[in-house]
Amino acid sequence: MTTVAAWAAPAAKAPLERTTVSRRAVGEKDVLIDIAFVGICHSDIHQVREGWGKAIFPMVPGHEIAGVVAETGSGVTKYAIGDRVGVGCMVDSCRVCVNCRAGLQQYCSDGPVWTYNSVGKDGQPTYGGYAQKIVVDEDFVVRIPDALPLDAAAPLLCAGITTYSPLRHWNAGPGRSVAVVGLGGLGHMGVKIAHALGAEVTVLSQSLRKKDDGLRMGADHYHATADPATFTDLAGSLDLILNTVSAPLDFGAYFSLLRTDGAMVNLGMPEEAAEVDMQSLFGLRRSMSSSGIGGIPETQEMLDFCAEHGVVADIETIGADEINEAYERVLASDVRYRFVIDTATV
Ligand SMILES: [Zn+2]
Ligand SMILES: [Zn+2]
Repeated sequence: MTTVAAWAAPAAKAPLERTTVSRRAVGEKDVLIDIAFVGICHSDIHQVREGWGKAIFPMVPGHEIAGVVAETGSGVTKYAIGDRVGVGCMVDSCRVCVNCRAGLQQYCSDGPVWTYNSVGKDGQPTYGGYAQKIVVDEDFVVRIPDALPLDAAAPLLCAGITTYSPLRHWNAGPGRSVAVVGLGGLGHMGVKIAHALGAEVTVLSQSLRKKDDGLRMGADHYHATADPATFTDLAGSLDLILNTVSAPLDFGAYFSLLRTDGAMVNLGMPEEAAEVDMQSLFGLRRSMSSSGIGGIPETQEMLDFCAEHGVVADIETIGADEINEAYERVLASDVRYRFVIDTATV
C-alpha cells in the first residue's frame, strides 16, 4: 500500500479538504498512474452532495483522469512505464456477463466498480482522481494518443465518451441533423464530436449568450429555447437530440422537433423524476432514451477519433485549493467549459 495526497469531502455536502488516501499495492495486472490532470464533472458534485442517494465518505471524487504510467505489475502487457494513459468512470466489472463480454462494461449486470463512491472487489471503497496517484487494472486503463495534451484530454474520459457513445449509436454523421441541448461541459463536447462526425449540428440553449462559442466549436445553428419561435422554426427537423441538461424539461416541446424515427437521448441524471406526456411521442415513431458513458473499447476508439480530428475540451485549469469555488461556479454554469485540476497542486 502507498499513501498519496488527495482532496476529499469528509461528509455529505461538506467542502473538500486536503488529506491522504491509501492505494493498494500494484498487483500483477495493475498499473500505477502518476495523475497529471483530473476534470471536475457535474456528477462529482451530485455525489459529494448525495444528490443521487447515500454515498461513501470520505469521498475523493474525480473520474476524468489523465496521467503517466509510473509502475506496472508483472503480468501487465498493454502498458509500459512512461505511457500516457487515462481512466474514466469505471475501474472494474464482472467481466463475464453478456454486456462485459460485448465491451459494454458500463452496463455490467452486476454494475461496474465505479472509480469512486463504489466498493472494489477487494471490499475496499474506491477513491477517485483528485489525488496524485491511482492504481488501476490495465483492462480499465486507456491510452491517450500523443496528439492530445493531457490537460485538455482529461475531460474526454467522461464528458467525451458520454457524448461520443450516443452519437455513434444513433448514427450521427453526414446527412443527419443533431441538436445538443445545453452548452456546458457535456454539451460542448457533444457539439465538437457531432461536428467532427460530419453531422449538421444545432445548439439549443436557454439564451444566445454563448452563441459565438457554439459556432466556433462547430455548430451550424444556434437557437434560444427561451424564444418560442425556436420550437416552430425547427419543428420536425431533427434526427437526434442529445439532452445534457440535468433538470426537468418540457419534453413534449423537444419531441415535436424530431423527424420520423427521431430520438431524444438523455445524458444528464436529474435528481428528481421527470414527467413525460406519452401523447407527444406518438405519431412519428419517435423515441426517448438514455445513454451512460461508454465501454472500454469505445472509450479508446473515442480518444483515437479525437486525436485524429483535433478534438479536445475547452478547459480552465485550477489548483486544488480552488475546488470548492469551482463547484459553486459549475452549479452557476460559470465555466468555459470544464474545470481541470492540476494535480501537482494536490
Ligand atoms: Zn462524469
Ligand atoms: Zn459484467
